[in-house]
Amino acid sequence: MPEFKTLRGMRDILHEDAKMMIYIEDQARKIARLYGYEEIITPVVESYELLAAKAGDEVRSRMFIFKDLGERDVALRPEFTASIARLVATTMRNDPKPFRLFCIGTVYRYDEPQRGRYREIWQSNYELIGPSGPEADAEIIMLTEGLMRKAGLKRFGLKIGHVGVLRGILSQERVGEREQSAIMQLMDKKEYDNALKLVESAGASNRCLDILRQLVECRGTDVKDVVNRIEEIVKTYEKSVIAAENLRETLKLVSESGCKISMTIDAGFARGLEYYTGMIFEVYVPGIDVALGGGGRYDNLVEVFGGEATPAVGVAHGIDRIALAMKTQKTVLRTENEKTVVVVPIKEELRAEALKISRMLRDADVPVEVEVMGRRMAKALEDADRRKANYAIIIGERELSEGAVVVRDLAKRQQSTVKVERIIDLVKS
Ligand code: AMP
Repeated sequence: MPEFKTLRGMRDILHEDAKMMIYIEDQARKIARLYGYEEIITPVVESYELLAAKAGDEVRSRMFIFKDLGERDVALRPEFTASIARLVATTMRNDPKPFRLFCIGTVYRYDEPQRGRYREIWQSNYELIGPSGPEADAEIIMLTEGLMRKAGLKRFGLKIGHVGVLRGILSQERVGEREQSAIMQLMDKKEYDNALKLVESAGASNRCLDILRQLVECRGTDVKDVVNRIEEIVKTYEKSVIAAENLRETLKLVSESGCKISMTIDAGFARGLEYYTGMIFEVYVPGIDVALGGGGRYDNLVEVFGGEATPAVGVAHGIDRIALAMKTQKTVLRTENEKTVVVVPIKEELRAEALKISRMLRDADVPVEVEVMGRRMAKALEDADRRKANYAIIIGERELSEGAVVVRDLAKRQQSTVKVERIIDLVKS
C-alpha cells in the first residue's frame, strides 16, 4: 500500500487547532444570533455555471471543477454568496425582506498553499439582503468588528473602498461592463499600470486616466479627509460623487454607533469578486499580510440569477486566518470550565456498572469517558491524567456492595468513597 497523505493545500486539523477553529465557529454563530442572522445550509457542490457567473477571473480560474456522473459541469463552491443569491432568486423570491442569512462551512480554491493560504477554507458568511441604505453596510462592518473582538483579537483594522467610485468614472467614460471587471481585477492585484493601459485601450479620455492615477494614490485613515479628497478628484463624474457620499454616510454611521475600529480608506482598492457594486472592505491584523475577511455591497447579483432587482451586502470571514491571527496574538480561549470524568471498572464483571454510572452522569450533562482498553488501574489513571480529566470514578466490588464508588480528584491526587447518588453533586461542585 502507498503511504496516504492529505492532498496539497488540504489539512487534517487536530487537537488544539481544531479546538480553536470550533471556538471561532461558536463565536461566529453567537454573532449571527446577536444580529438576527438565520443559519442556513447550502450545498458544497453547485453547477459550474452558477458559481462562475460573477466570480471574477481570479476565483474562476481556481475553482475545483469536474463532471458528475450525469455529465453535468459542477464545481466545489469557492464562496457562499452565489448560492445565497440563487436561493433568494428562486425558493425565497416571495418571502418578506430583509433576509439576514448566515452560513458556515468549507469553500474550495486552488490557491498556491503558503502560510494562511489553503485549498480547503473555512468561512463564516453573513448576507443582509433587501436594504439599499448605508445602515445595512454599517451593520456588516459592525458585526465583523464584533466577531474579531469575540475571537479575542486586539489589533485589527479595515481597509475600505467603494467600487462605485471607480465604476462611476468608467461608466461615464463608456467603458463596457466586461472591461470594467477586467480593470478592477488588475487593480485588485495592484497591477495599476496594466489597469490603466486597459482603461486607455477601452477608449477613455486622458482626463480619466489622470483622475484614476490620482485616485490610486488617495488613501488615509482620516475618513472625512480622504472622502473629501476623493470627492474633489472625481467631481466631474456624477455617479462617483454619489458613491463617495454613500461611503461617507456608511462610515459616519459606523463611527456614531460607537464602533471603534481603525480604518484605512483606499480609493484605488478593488476586490477580485466581480459582483461588488458599492462599499467594499477587508480585515487585516499586523504581521499577517493576507485578509482575515472581506465583503461589500452587491446590488445586481440576485437579478443575474433571474430574481428581481435586490440590493444586498455581505461578508465572508476566513476562520483559518482568524485562528492564525489568534495564535500570533496569543489569544486565550474563553472556554467554559466543564468538569470531565473517566469511569474505570476494576474488573470485567463491573463493566455494566461502569456504563450505568457513566450514563447517569451524562444525563446530568457531565462528559464521561469509560475505560475500554481493559488496562490496569495505574495505567488507566495515568491516561486519564494525560487527557486532563478532572475526576476518575473507580468502581470496585466492595464499595459497590455498599452503594458507593471511589472518586479520585486527579489534580489534587486525593480520593474518597462516595455514595452513587452523591457523585453528580461532587463532580459539579
Ligand atoms: P474572499 O471571498 O476572497 O474575500 O474571501 C473571504 C475570506 O476567506 C478572506 O478574507 C480570507 O480570510 C479567506 N480566504 C480566502 N482564500 C483563502 C485561502 N486560500 N486560504 C485561507 N483563507 C482564505
